[in-house]
Amino acid sequence: MKIVFASGNCGKLREASEIFEGFEIVPISAFSAWNAPDENGSTFLQNAVIKAEAAAKAAPDSVVLADDSGLVVPALDGAPGIFSARFSKEGTDAANREKLLAELSGKSERSAYFVCAAVLIFPDKTVFAAEGRCCGRIIESCRGENGFGYDPLFVPEGFDKTLAELSEDEKNAISHRGRAFRKLLTFKGSSL
Ligand code: IMP
Repeated sequence: MKIVFASGNCGKLREASEIFEGFEIVPISAFSAWNAPDENGSTFLQNAVIKAEAAAKAAPDSVVLADDSGLVVPALDGAPGIFSARFSKEGTDAANREKLLAELSGKSERSAYFVCAAVLIFPDKTVFAAEGRCCGRIIESCRGENGFGYDPLFVPEGFDKTLAELSEDEKNAISHRGRAFRKLLTFKGSSL
């Protein structure tokens, strides 16, 4: 059974393949009709729906999956939030992490959480949506080589290691994306 995932992010694609074990995760780039939409929503859910609807147009006979995710830091008034991928001018993971560290410099309140809004659309147009969160804190410098994005700076609640120091299985068990995707599976799992 195939699920077409509206993402070109290799980290997300790898995680989706692990979490949706037994399904073939196909990147939307395999469909020539795919045009990446403007992610101009004002919430994670709105942006996930925008991506999922664009993917459903490009691959109308497939089950399509989209997610929009990011890091919310209350001490920064919720930034980077829906702008997590484009937080720094360069927009690379390394530059985004550097900017996060600079903005939190000198702050002792370093709690943060990841949010993932995930949307699944079936060929019959049935839509399922779910949200997952992962709470933790931002440390002072990067640790670990696994994962992607802000993982080397994020220590989840109840852990001493960063998400980048956890194995893929350990991260997926507690991550915002793991939680959101598993909720989708419970909604429609039997008909997938
Ligand atoms: P999206 O592709 O628009 O959903 O942007 C997601 C951005 O949020 C990524 O580029 C990362 O910077 C950040 N992000 C989302 N999920 C994770 C995660 O699991 N670990 C680390 N960073 C993440």
